[in-house]
Amino acid sequence: MTPDEIVRTFLDHYHRLGHRDAPESSLIPPPGDPVLFTTSGMHPLTPYLLGRPHPGGRRLVNVQRCLRTTDLDEVGDRTHLTVFDMLGSWSLGDYDIATSLRWGHELLTDGLRIDPGRLHATVFGGDGQVGPDETAWRTWTELGVPVEANGADNWWSNGPTGPCGPDSEIFVWTGDGPPTGTPGTDDRWMEVWNHVQMRLHRHEDGRLTPLPLSSIDTGMGLERLEMVLTGGRNVYQGVGLRPWVAAVRDRWPLGETELRIVADHLRTAVVVLGDGVRPGNTGRGYVLRRLVRRVLTVLWRDDPSRSLTDLPDDPFRDAGRRFRQDPDVPRLRAVLADEERRFQGLLRRGRPLVDRVWARGPLTERDYHWLHDTHGLPRDLVDGLLDTVDADPRR
Ligand code: ATP
Ligand code: MG
Repeated sequence: MTPDEIVRTFLDHYHRLGHRDAPESSLIPPPGDPVLFTTSGMHPLTPYLLGRPHPGGRRLVNVQRCLRTTDLDEVGDRTHLTVFDMLGSWSLGDYDIATSLRWGHELLTDGLRIDPGRLHATVFGGDGQVGPDETAWRTWTELGVPVEANGADNWWSNGPTGPCGPDSEIFVWTGDGPPTGTPGTDDRWMEVWNHVQMRLHRHEDGRLTPLPLSSIDTGMGLERLEMVLTGGRNVYQGVGLRPWVAAVRDRWPLGETELRIVADHLRTAVVVLGDGVRPGNTGRGYVLRRLVRRVLTVLWRDDPSRSLTDLPDDPFRDAGRRFRQDPDVPRLRAVLADEERRFQGLLRRGRPLVDRVWARGPLTERDYHWLHDTHGLPRDLVDGLLDTVDADPRR
């Protein structure tokens, strides 16, 4: 199944069950929103989950592009990307968690034909304040899906105060032989879908009170689902990453993890640019700049003549189409080329400075501050330059 077919099957399933399309947001949240990027399909819907009537009614569905800077350290493993598509379904104070889990199970096993024996679920096991999620436990047991109960891992919240509630996660076995262990004991169980009950509000003093609506918010990663349905070993083999992986591999010999990081970050940069962000020194622009600089740092370690201008157009166009953008590819390429030139200039000016400081001994916090505040050299860049100074075995 291709991602397009998966999306079709998902939307059809929920349309049949009375869900209407919620419009997709861009990666840039509305002004005043505290987060830099849209991190899940639920994020733009928060006011409605909390009680504001949605024009589409009480059952919604959509596909939302998401970006998670919190996952940057995990990018390059089997299952994490910086930008990915999330398939979401919502009940705004309508049906309950048992219904949500049953409909989800039906989609996975009937619509998408995943072997039910490859599924495992987790549920909230209770803590001092809230009891175990017996409804979810019973539902999974009735469906014949093995369940594991957890504490904090199955408690969703968006911060120390505000809306929160128990969640139930669905895992698929991605190992070679028959499934063994549980999601908690064997990491070949990959999480694909989370069903959150947004029904409580945590106050400053830690008290929990019911929200006016008891809502359900679910999110499933499209690239992970594609991996399951195509028997892929990791999300980098998916068709959305393939043009990037191929373009990078054809041009620059890199280790597997570095290849994945470069492919992911280039694709992310292009999608972020496609949503109108420009490189800068603060906020979203800085995230974008760091993504590009991380790519260049990897590429230039072995060969400083490598250039992003050598990339073909195809992957740019593919990312635009895949994430429902309509990018001006020559313009995006020009922005990347400009970033590359700036970074080159910064390195040219920075290298002698870092060499000089390093000659006096290992860098102190004051050195880092001085290099950053006076010369505009961020810490990760200084560390990158240090990696190329005659390597000290202690570092
Ligand atoms: P994990 O623990 O595996 O990082 P998560 O708990 O962060 O997952 P959720 O926040 O529940 O995931 O997001 C809902 C779904 O979105 C996940 O079940 C997964 O399918 C998908 N997803 C989350 N993070 C990523 C990512 N970095 N890359 C690709 N898909 C992701
Ligand atoms: Mg995560």
